Amino acid sequence: MEKVTIREASQKLRISTASVRQCIRNGELKAFREEKPEGGAGWVVELPEEGWVSEAVALEMNREFCPWWWGTADRSGQIHYVESLSASSWEETVPRFLCGEVGDNIWAATDLPEELLCLECQMRAMELKLPQATPNLPR
Ligand SMILES: [Zn+2]
Repeated sequence: MEKVTIREASQKLRISTASVRQCIRNGELKAFREEKPEGGAGWVVELPEEGWVSEAVALEMNREFCPWWWGTADRSGQIHYVESLSASSWEETVPRFLCGEVGDNIWAATDLPEELLCLECQMRAMELKLPQATPNLPR
């Protein structure tokens, strides 16, 4: 059984770190605190088998790859285009959006209503010839 950090689990399972934590709370993923060789303790997650699908994040995982994400947990405001992801010292995923804004984390945008897409991000994506959002993909 491979043990990884929350951030690695997020990358391998292609879900946000917030969702990894949610799955741990739900008991869908096994995690425990482990002493680190360099001192202190950190959370490690047991990577589930290939093909694992969490009920909590099924929507997120079944979604076709799409760079448009919410930057807030309550999915308020606008949907932005993620330019890059980095990790904070707390292992949260910190997204930087094309428009220059920085989010708290990322939450999958399962619908992309055109009026909620950040205009600034859309303009930059067009300039950089990045794949455009397809509003409200049929599911
Ligand atoms: Zn934006």
